[in-house]
Amino acid sequence: MRLDKRWIVIAALALAIALYYGLDLGRFLSLEFVKSRQAELEAWRAAKPVAAGATAFLVYVVVTGLSLPGAAVMTLAVGAIFGLGWGTLIVSFASTIGATLAFLASRVLFRDWVQSRFGDRLAAVNAGIQREGGFYLFTLRLVPVFPFFVINLAMGVTPIRPWTFYWVSQLGMLAATVVFVNAGTQLARIESLSDVASPGVLVSFALLGLFPLLAKKALDVVRARRVYAPWPRPRRFDRNLVVIGAGSAGLVTAYIAAAVRAKVTLVEKHRMGGDCLNTGCVPSKALIRSAKLLSHIRRAGEFGIRRAEAEFDFADVMERVQRVVREIAPHDSVERYTGLGVDVVEGTARIVTPWEVEITRPDGTVQRLATRSIVIATGGRPAVPPIPGIDRVGYLTSDTVWGLRVLPRRLVVLGGGPIGSELTQAFARLGAQVTQVEMEPRLLLREDPEVSEAVARRFVAEGIDVRVGHEAKRFEVVDGEKILVAKHDGSEVRIPFDALLVATGRAANLQGFGLEELGVVTGRTIETNGFLQTNFPNIYAAGDVAGPYQFTHTAAHQAWYAAVNALFAPFRKFRADYTVIPWSTFVEPEVARVGLNELEARERNVPHEVTVYGIGDLDRAIADGEAHGFVKVLTVPGKDRILGVTIVGEHAGDLLAEFVLAMKHGIGLDKILGTIHTYPTLAEANKYAAGVWKRAHAPQRLLAWVERFHAWRRG
Ligand SMILES: Cc1cc2nc3c(=O)[nH]c(=O)nc-3n(C[C@H](O)[C@H](O)[C@H](O)COP(=O)(O)OP(=O)(O)OC[C@H]3O[C@@H](n4cnc5c(N)ncnc54)[C@H](O)[C@@H]3O)c2cc1C
Repeated sequence: MRLDKRWIVIAALALAIALYYGLDLGRFLSLEFVKSRQAELEAWRAAKPVAAGATAFLVYVVVTGLSLPGAAVMTLAVGAIFGLGWGTLIVSFASTIGATLAFLASRVLFRDWVQSRFGDRLAAVNAGIQREGGFYLFTLRLVPVFPFFVINLAMGVTPIRPWTFYWVSQLGMLAATVVFVNAGTQLARIESLSDVASPGVLVSFALLGLFPLLAKKALDVVRARRVYAPWPRPRRFDRNLVVIGAGSAGLVTAYIAAAVRAKVTLVEKHRMGGDCLNTGCVPSKALIRSAKLLSHIRRAGEFGIRRAEAEFDFADVMERVQRVVREIAPHDSVERYTGLGVDVVEGTARIVTPWEVEITRPDGTVQRLATRSIVIATGGRPAVPPIPGIDRVGYLTSDTVWGLRVLPRRLVVLGGGPIGSELTQAFARLGAQVTQVEMEPRLLLREDPEVSEAVARRFVAEGIDVRVGHEAKRFEVVDGEKILVAKHDGSEVRIPFDALLVATGRAANLQGFGLEELGVVTGRTIETNGFLQTNFPNIYAAGDVAGPYQFTHTAAHQAWYAAVNALFAPFRKFRADYTVIPWSTFVEPEVARVGLNELEARERNVPHEVTVYGIGDLDRAIADGEAHGFVKVLTVPGKDRILGVTIVGEHAGDLLAEFVLAMKHGIGLDKILGTIHTYPTLAEANKYAAGVWKRAHAPQRLLAWVERFHAWRRG
């Protein structure tokens, strides 16, 4: 159906353009021709005004609709023949209708193709057009320096609505229309188009075009003034920046501020390092390491070791976890940051005005700091669903689990996301009988189904009771035994347990430090613009509290933008770049991803090719006894440009780095294939994946000729 419509449009356009050039119709649209026939045309208009007006209108629509040259001359001609009033009316409607036809033709012919081919790169443009397309179009229309037909065709491939395109175009083109039609009334005096569009006129239009931009800026300033209105602005500031929260985002923000010699205070109410160091990445990875060692000892037979036994105490493992935290803690310590030039204050921060932060220290003393900018980096916390009975049975979260010193015999882990899955496997390997409960139909729902399957298969093989499609309904205590009642396939399932670990997602820390009172706009996280500014332009947010990602590396990434923007706006501002975001889930098999996976590519209609290399074939993986998993690469059809990569297997997170770099810097699979990878390493999997892609794209015709060439050389 779509194909038919396209062909009709193409055929009509081709025919009309062929006629125009074949019959040299352009000669009728020259200034000389119009001037030489002006008297006849005026006589025709006087005799048959309606027919003359309708003809002028139609011809105008056809010329602009087909994007043919000559619209400016026609505008002058219409002015000469119909005068300023009727001329403006005819040209204004005819040019807008013609422009809209060209816009629609471009939409039918090119939009799907352009969006499917470049949609991933155009995401920001599309979002901008959806938000402010009318505004941009208006600006472009006001400045006749941009050829009108280019605007028509370019807008056709964007998501702007036809009606918006129509009325904004008509309004935007009106000023230029009036100027040209009016000039046409003096046609006799015009020798060339430059007499109308003189540099002076063009500069005036350009200034006119700047007007909406300036108006928008002024509006932003007024809006900003309005949000600040209730609070007097301090005449002087004690600090350039106050950063609230010393987790991954806050630490990096403060570090950057100190590095560029700003006066910065970093406030932390609990523990320096935040979640990642104290209750997140670091302890979980330390625990996973001990658990992995145990799993290797259990697999000793596979490696030719007859007997290997592990004697251990869970409490010692948890003590090691704390040792690791203590060993890394100096990196995030008060001493280190003070040495770097940051004023670190241990206390609870509260924003009292857009420029003032009040800090209450543990000893009760209160300090109020006036600051030019604030970065909120208060992080998040485990979100615990209000399931009936949950408080009665008691539960652990990623905040509290690190205090355990006795291994629970039967552990229920609620949640099949990354945190739930990592802790499930670690506790199971340490000897707990773990039941992992997930209401969705599979673990790690954001990943492709075969990734979830690979992880679930391994979990089951390791003795974990994986219950997907189980929705926790309530908790009961029956004869002293704790029971989770879940719904599965329409019936109730009862799962007895000794301890419950809730890992059902994380909520941003938004309450209790002044956001509500001030009126900082929040949803699930703090709402920020592309520069990480809240609705108060001098207050920024970064990390888990800003979202949308909840990783240490994205918190640090955002921190750079928040710090630089907070210190240098409005002179220089940078829009946070989320084009290439990697992440890993540290289960076995490890899962790592950057960019699109197949599921997302299909959902978003992004054309793609899939290349898979099975790590089961890789020499090093075989030697290591880890011959499993895959590298899956999505590329633009027919090209080696990478859209996304998922790796499942040993050290997947480390292997991914090569693809992250490639995507960030536009390096394709061809270049990865042409790069020497050390033998035998797991990293060779990346090169072999590129090789699989290359073989699938081998130039078959050329190879047939080369084969003949070799045959010829053999004689
Ligand atoms: C179990 C687990 C494992 C994880 N594993 C990984 C991983 O492997 N890789 C990864 O990238 N990410 C991982 N994460 C996520 C990572 O920990 C977070 O994304 C990261 O810590 C977010 O940093 P942040 O600075 O935004 O917040 P946080 O680290 O939470 O820091 C916020 C800080 O603000 C302080 N604060 C809050 N309010 C105030 C106030 N009013 N005044 C003063 N201070 C205040 C808090 O005390 C806290 O220290 C994991 C998380 C968990 C829970």
